[in-house]
Amino acid sequence: MQNQAMKILLAGLISLTTLAWAWDLMVAGGASGGSAPWVTRQEGLYLSGLLSIALMSLAMLLAARPAWLEGPLGGLDRMYRTHKWAGILAVGFASLHWLIEMSDDILKSLFGREGRVPKLHDTGLLEILRDLAEDMGEWAIYAVLAMLAVTLWKRFPYRPWRFLHQAMPVLYLMLAFHALLLAPTDYWAQPVGWLLALLLAGGVYGSVHSLAGHIGRSRRVQGRIVAVEHPAADIVGVHCQLDRGWRGHRPGQFAFVTFDRSEGPHPFTIASADRGDRTISFQIKALGDYTRSLAERLQAGQTVTVEGPYGRFDLDRRNPRAQQIWVAAGIGVTPFLAWLESLQDDPGQAPVADLHYSTRDRKTDPFVTRLETLCASLPGIRLQLHDTRQGEVLTAAEMLAAKDRSRRTEVWFCGPQGLADALKKGLDATWPGSLRFHQEAFEMR
Ligand SMILES: Cc1cc2nc3c(=O)[nH]c(=O)nc-3n(C[C@H](O)[C@H](O)[C@H](O)COP(=O)(O)OP(=O)(O)OC[C@H]3O[C@@H](n4cnc5c(N)ncnc54)[C@H](O)[C@@H]3O)c2cc1C
Repeated sequence: MQNQAMKILLAGLISLTTLAWAWDLMVAGGASGGSAPWVTRQEGLYLSGLLSIALMSLAMLLAARPAWLEGPLGGLDRMYRTHKWAGILAVGFASLHWLIEMSDDILKSLFGREGRVPKLHDTGLLEILRDLAEDMGEWAIYAVLAMLAVTLWKRFPYRPWRFLHQAMPVLYLMLAFHALLLAPTDYWAQPVGWLLALLLAGGVYGSVHSLAGHIGRSRRVQGRIVAVEHPAADIVGVHCQLDRGWRGHRPGQFAFVTFDRSEGPHPFTIASADRGDRTISFQIKALGDYTRSLAERLQAGQTVTVEGPYGRFDLDRRNPRAQQIWVAAGIGVTPFLAWLESLQDDPGQAPVADLHYSTRDRKTDPFVTRLETLCASLPGIRLQLHDTRQGEVLTAAEMLAAKDRSRRTEVWFCGPQGLADALKKGLDATWPGSLRFHQEAFEMR
C-alpha cells in the first residue's frame, strides 16, 4: 500500500512533466528552426532535463522531512525510500540528458550541421550566466553520478557517505540554476514553465532548509540520560528524561537520537509507552561501528538530543476488524515492547493478536522474559517464540495456522529484510484472502 503511494507519486510526476512538455510541443510548436533529427535531439534534451530536475526537486523537498507528506507516504521511512528512488531516477534521466547533449558529433557526421536548431544568443551578462549554467550542470551531473554510485554500493561506510551526501543541496542548487537559465524562454508562459517553477521552488526550499541546518529543528528537544542498562552483551538500554517541548509519542514511533554531537543523529525506536512524563527508553543493538562502542560511552547524567517522534508503525493504525498477526525478529522487537507497554493500562481494551517473536537463542535473549511478563496481563495476545538455534524458523504457514481465511488480516512486521521477503513470498503463495503487510524499515539509505 505504502509502496503503492510511492509508485503513484513518482509515476504521477513523470507523467505530469511529460504531458506539460508535450503540451509545449503540440500547442506552442516546441523547438523550431531545425531539421527533424536535430529537433528530436533538442526535444529529447529538454524532456530528459525536465524529468531529471522534476525528480531531483521532489527528492530535495522530501529531504526536508515535510510533516504533511508523512501521512500520504506512510511514514518517514517510506518518505526516505521515495526520496531515494526519486534521486535514482533523477540521476538516470540526468545521464540520458548528458548522453543526448554528447550526441552532437554523431548527428553532425550523419546529417550535417545545417539542420541544427539555432542556439539562443543573448548578449552581456545573460550570455555569461548561460555559459556558467551550462558548465555548472555538467560538473553537477558528474558529482551526482558519483554520489549515486557510492549510495548503491552498500559496502561504502555510512558515515563518510552521509558526509558526502551533505553536498547534495549545493549540487541541486547548481542544477536548478542550470535548468532556470537554459530552459527555453517561452516555457515560462505555459504549463511546463509553471510546473518547473513550482518544482524548483520546492527543491530550493528543501536545499536551503538543509544547508541552514533546519531539518527537523521544530521537533528537536534536549534531555538527559537517567539510566543505562546492559541486558545482554550486544544490547544497551537507555532511559531518558526529555525537556519541555517534547510532544509525546504514539507506541511504535521512532526518533533521531544524538548522544554525541560529532557522531550526529541515529534513528531508534522508542521502546517504551508514552507515560505523559516525557520519559522515553531505547533498546540499542550493536549492529555497526558506532552502536558497538555505545555501551561504553553512555552514562547516566549525559545530555541527549532527541528529534521526533516519527513513523507510522503505530498500534492505533491497526484495523480493529482485521485479524492481527504481529511479527518481531531480533531488535525488531522494540516497537512491540512499546505497543505491549501501552496496553497495560487497560488490558481489557487490548486486541486479540498472535505475537511471533523470532530469536537467535531463547536462553540468552533479554527480551523473552520482558515479553512474557507484558503478555501475561494481556489475555488476547498469544505469544509464540521461535528459537532459530533450535531450528524453529518462522514460516508463513506457521503464521497462518488456525487463522480464519475468510477474514481480513493484517501482519505487522519489524525485523530483518530477508525474513520479511521470505514471509511475504510465503503469504502471497498461500493466503487467498485480503492481507496487509505493514513493515517498519530499519534502514534508510
Ligand atoms: C526507523 C528505524 C528504527 C530503528 N530502531 C532501532 C532500534 O530500536 N534499536 C536498534 O538497535 N536499532 C534500530 N535501528 C537501526 C539503527 O539505526 C542502526 O543500527 C544504527 O544507526 C547503526 O549505526 P552504526 O553506525 O553502529 O552502524 P553502521 O555500520 O555505520 O551502519 C549500519 C547501517 O545503519 C544505518 N545507519 C547508520 N547510521 C545511521 C544514521 N545516522 N541514520 C540513519 N541510518 C543509519 C545505515 O543503513 C547503515 O548502513 C532503527 C533504524 C531505523 C531506520
